[in-house]
Amino acid sequence: MSENSPINLDSFKLIISREKLLFLESYSRQNISQESCAILLGKRTENEFLVLETILMENDEKSYIMFTINEDKLFSVYKKAESMNLSVVGIYHNHPAHPVPSITDKKYMETNPVPWIINSTITNESKCYIYYDSQGVRDVDIVFTD
Ligand SMILES: [Zn+2]
Repeated sequence: MSENSPINLDSFKLIISREKLLFLESYSRQNISQESCAILLGKRTENEFLVLETILMENDEKSYIMFTINEDKLFSVYKKAESMNLSVVGIYHNHPAHPVPSITDKKYMETNPVPWIINSTITNESKCYIYYDSQGVRDVDIVFTD
């Protein structure tokens, strides 16, 4: 690729510090009895999502195979983001299985088209995905800032 190559708008990047991702992964391992979830706040530029804040959310399902975030709490996160001049740039949760989106995840990914990090508490691998128009679920590269 030459330096003059146009930006590939179909490639997505989630940019996060190792420290933040490690914090979320270790939180998941410590709360293995239920799926843990977090909302990621930051800045979006085209198809790059920069994570600046991670907000741990309570799992209303209290389930290790599902998660639901209370709507009032979600609303307050959006308000907080707005007050910090940030946007919701990602959603994190874990699976006691492979880090691939479930059918339920895909449904919610479509209504929340930001990068979704899924961590496997079995392999401790984290993968990232986004729902992108007619193309459905696409991979997102996780890029570390450090
Ligand atoms: Zn899931």
